[in-house]
Amino acid sequence: MLRVAVVGSGPSGVYTAQALVQQSLVPDVHVDVLDRLPCPYGLVRYGVAPDHEKIKSLQNNLRTVLEDERIAFIGNVEIGTRGLTPARLLGLYHAVVYCVGAARDRRLGVPGEDLPGSWSATDFVSWYSAHPDAAPDGFALADARSAVVVGVGNVAVDVTRILSRGAAELQPTDVPHAALGALARSGVREVHMVGRRGPSQAKFTTKELRELGGLPDASVDVEPSDLLLDPGYADPSALPAVNRRNVEVVRGWAAAGDEASQDAGHRIRLRFFLRPVELLESGGRVGGVRFERTVPDGSGGVRGTGTYEEIEAQLVLRAVGYRGVPLDGLPFDPARGTVPHEAGRVLRDGAASPGEYVAGWIKRGPTGVIGTNRPCAKETVTSLLADASALSGRPLAGEPLRVLRELGHEPVQWPGWLAIERAEAALGSSLGRRSVKIPDWPGLLEAALEEGVQQEQSAVQGRQPAA
Ligand code: NAP
Repeated sequence: MLRVAVVGSGPSGVYTAQALVQQSLVPDVHVDVLDRLPCPYGLVRYGVAPDHEKIKSLQNNLRTVLEDERIAFIGNVEIGTRGLTPARLLGLYHAVVYCVGAARDRRLGVPGEDLPGSWSATDFVSWYSAHPDAAPDGFALADARSAVVVGVGNVAVDVTRILSRGAAELQPTDVPHAALGALARSGVREVHMVGRRGPSQAKFTTKELRELGGLPDASVDVEPSDLLLDPGYADPSALPAVNRRNVEVVRGWAAAGDEASQDAGHRIRLRFFLRPVELLESGGRVGGVRFERTVPDGSGGVRGTGTYEEIEAQLVLRAVGYRGVPLDGLPFDPARGTVPHEAGRVLRDGAASPGEYVAGWIKRGPTGVIGTNRPCAKETVTSLLADASALSGRPLAGEPLRVLRELGHEPVQWPGWLAIERAEAALGSSLGRRSVKIPDWPGLLEAALEEGVQQEQSAVQGRQPAA
């Protein structure tokens, strides 16, 4: 038997578990999928925007994998706490695959970045996704009129869209109730989404970009003078397909002008060739962003021009990408924000470390769509299976669940997660909504661990002799 731990139950972790059991090279593989949270699915649950129901429904595919009898979900277990070091974990399994993603936001590194009212988009996404670590006091949107979103990737598009939707549009989603209330009271009417390079170099994908133009109560406009700087905008024919389609969408908006925008409740302003140099203070909070106008440098980047522009904003969301977080006891490349590896095998001092692997964003960096994780997981699993005969002979240090409990962890298993799902459905129906996410640790653990206690009690009762 080959016992494997997969750390992280987001798409990369679940696809890794699936590839491990759906193969015929190595028989009798058992996979435990561990997660720091008591809930599975990673960024599909806590990153995909609540109004992207089709992508969210991927949870059903991930669920089918986690319900495979050769796979067990073990939540509420954080590697690196209560003595559960990577070395200790490797003692419990023949192989460990780290699929821990890229948990932190990148920084802008400009003055004023930490003013109240300036947030990373990750914080905002966590808040409206009910992540239990999200800012407990939430977002004061009522006093904001104008927001600046820095960055032109898909996360920037997500947060721009959520800010530009009315609460009625989000009511049918699983957005937590407090966030829905705050969004309903939001005073934000203008959202400036700002890129430091041109539209032909933006990172968003066309489907996501186009969606901004289809919002029921928002208009999109672009600043024609921003566009003329972009050589790819003038002649998109040589661009890769995604960039060319992006340019076509932006051109359409530019051609429509801002006539369509007059009646909309929200105005989305797409800006380019502006790089943030300072967040400006007003009354102890952020009041605006100072940008330097940039121009193409001829080799794909931009250079500053020494001319500046200020945009008023009571809310600033920095959507400039994620970065990986080092895990004590695992090697880490701080420049790339990833774990060094070769075809998924973790490298320690340049040599493959037996039994340790990576997949997903912690392996390749925070790029690509959910589906990109499939071939990435497959590559790692191919390496692991090639090593399996050398790994499977090693004696293991005990039964994982028992050892985890001895160390003081309180694992949440699959029935505990199903209990959270039921509690969220009950919460939704008490509020006259569909399932509504529980946004805090105590609420999640109460639902999950009560189920565990009940299960243990009924197991004990089952062992009592019949009266
Ligand atoms: P991203 O795609 O890397 O975009 C980051 C953006 O921030 C880029 O426009 C980048 O500009 C800009 N940026 C970086 N540093 C900056 C700085 N110092 N000043 C100003 N701008 C800066 O990252 P992301 O949006 O966080 O997305 C991460 C991944 O998740 C992507 O693969 C994305 O496609 C995926 N995702 C997908 C969906 C979806 O499919 N619906 C939704 C959300 C996320 P430069 O290009 O000039 O560096």
